[in-house]
Amino acid sequence: MATSACDLLLTNAVVVTMDPQFTVHRSGSVAVRGDAIVAVGPEAAAFDAGETVDCRGRVIMPGLVNAHTHVPMTLLRGLADDLRLDVWLMGYVMPVERAFVNPDFVRLGTSLGCAEMIRSGVTCFADMYYFEDAIAETTAAAGLRALCAQTVLRFPTPDATSFEESLARARDFIGRWKGHPLIVAAPAPHAPYTCTPEILRACAELAVEFDVPLHIHLSETALEVEDSRRVNGMPVIPWVKKHGLFDAKVLAAHCVHVDDGEMRALKNANAGVAHNPSSNLKLAAGVAPAARMLALGVNVGIGTDGAASNNDLDMFEELRLAALLAKGTSGDPTAIPARLALAMATRIGASALHLGHLTGSIEAGKRADLVVLDLDRLHNVPAFHHDANGVYGQIVYAAKSTDVVDVMCNGRWLMRDRRLLTLDEAGLRRAAQEAASRVDAFLGTREVSVLQKLVAVGGAVEQESFEAQVKARVPSAEPVLAVLNSDHVTIVRSSHYHQFDTYWSFDDPEQGWLRYREDEFLDAAGAVTGARSRLTLTGRTREDHFGAVLLSRSRYYAPATHSTRFYREYFRPAAERIVEKDRRRWLVAFRGVEFYVHLDRLIVPAQEGFFVEVKSRTWSRRDARDKAAVIADLLALFGTRPDDTISDGYADLAAGEGR
Ligand SMILES: [Zn+2]
Repeated sequence: MATSACDLLLTNAVVVTMDPQFTVHRSGSVAVRGDAIVAVGPEAAAFDAGETVDCRGRVIMPGLVNAHTHVPMTLLRGLADDLRLDVWLMGYVMPVERAFVNPDFVRLGTSLGCAEMIRSGVTCFADMYYFEDAIAETTAAAGLRALCAQTVLRFPTPDATSFEESLARARDFIGRWKGHPLIVAAPAPHAPYTCTPEILRACAELAVEFDVPLHIHLSETALEVEDSRRVNGMPVIPWVKKHGLFDAKVLAAHCVHVDDGEMRALKNANAGVAHNPSSNLKLAAGVAPAARMLALGVNVGIGTDGAASNNDLDMFEELRLAALLAKGTSGDPTAIPARLALAMATRIGASALHLGHLTGSIEAGKRADLVVLDLDRLHNVPAFHHDANGVYGQIVYAAKSTDVVDVMCNGRWLMRDRRLLTLDEAGLRRAAQEAASRVDAFLGTREVSVLQKLVAVGGAVEQESFEAQVKARVPSAEPVLAVLNSDHVTIVRSSHYHQFDTYWSFDDPEQGWLRYREDEFLDAAGAVTGARSRLTLTGRTREDHFGAVLLSRSRYYAPATHSTRFYREYFRPAAERIVEKDRRRWLVAFRGVEFYVHLDRLIVPAQEGFFVEVKSRTWSRRDARDKAAVIADLLALFGTRPDDTISDGYADLAAGEGR
């Protein structure tokens, strides 16, 4: 028999092929020619090799497939931990990304992430981020295989001012990388809740046009699914299906909250799923029903997600967690056995990325993506051979990423004897720390200013105000109403509210007060007709007293688009006061001057009687003094006198209430 030639022959290894039959060669060989595996096992031994490497005592297995990550986010590792998803994402990650993410940032983060992944035995990953072109370039230079997906969102991103621009960027990117040996470029509509149906459809059409996969986050949190039910009348999976998403070859990250019907829909669409154990645990999203999805035939791979929510890219940790979580959440220790977990991190994961024809197992015809493990270390001896599956348990339950000694991708060595061959590790460590110092400085200035933090999460409009104001107590509403209905005053307009105020103060009084106000508008019968909420940051108030109080202060208004809980966790105030009141409000003319008259009944803190507040915008001390005299006359008609013990906003009365 004529011998065939190959470039490289790896011999004497335990070859864990992860092929569909789970073939293991006890003392096996792998023959590599160019970028491909040409023979495995006994056939390989017959090859005439340019170079032979003796792998005695070692395990050769396919390179791991990290099915979901945002690789440049390695630079945000440890940026903000132990926060709720919205505070973490909208309060920290997105503002920092808006300020720092540019092509240089993603190149550095990608190099750092690639170095970390090579060290832990990853040869292929699925990415989703901004400036994906720079990520693809950097990844190809590092020698790794990747599905690089360009993010498309309905709002501006670090690399596009509009959805149309990011879609055009994605199209250009995909066209440019078509046919590359390592990189598959794809579109990534970020998630249904950050996209519109039009974006989902446009991205699916783009993926179909170029015959590339589509990467998206689906059903990550229970809240996302609840919102979808409420707003769209159906859960996430049927909704994206309705908008044509599954016309594309989908890779869906998370799928934590999906029911059986949705899992079947994923299977029927041949969508791959990326299960992200650490990220879902850390952000308390839940645990994906990975075992059930696998049982229904869905290709479920394993991902690390970005380093900001993990905080590392260690696939050994993830595949162990995938096996353990399935057991712990089901009470069934046979759920996701080690062999299946390793398949998820290799062959099944590659299929989830729609790259199963290229990578994920050690089989003739596939690309030479493989790793060599040293399982002869203290934490991994002895080895038993009575059960053929023993090696999977060793790899999944005992091995560590540091047991990876050699890594090859596409026939090229990326690491030998734990030395990286394509990346400068010391240089990356230094550059990453420099980048972190710049982010530290940015957050450092922001964290000391409530205003800067307010601007970071949604903008604030400044309004300087000067007003003459008086507060007084009245035992009952009747005298006030009687005067307002008399000939003494002319009512310009009136309204009625139920107001819920949360006041936050800070250790540094110079920061002022932050108020979260929710107003319910009430009709004449007291029924709620509408609502609004807003944030007001009131700078330190300067006061002058002359009968009325002249208040001068700067105020910043911002729409309150998040919950009180979000702002409380984000701003971390030193104290909180709650005020709830029923407010009737009139704009009146009295002796030729316009005033606002507020008649307040305090519900929290509960107070006897009513409070009257009379105020008018003013512009000078002289004007304020003149108005003070008129206000005093109006209060006299109401049968009361100014009471300057009541603070603006009643927050002082609420001391000790709330938290
Ligand atoms: Zn993600």
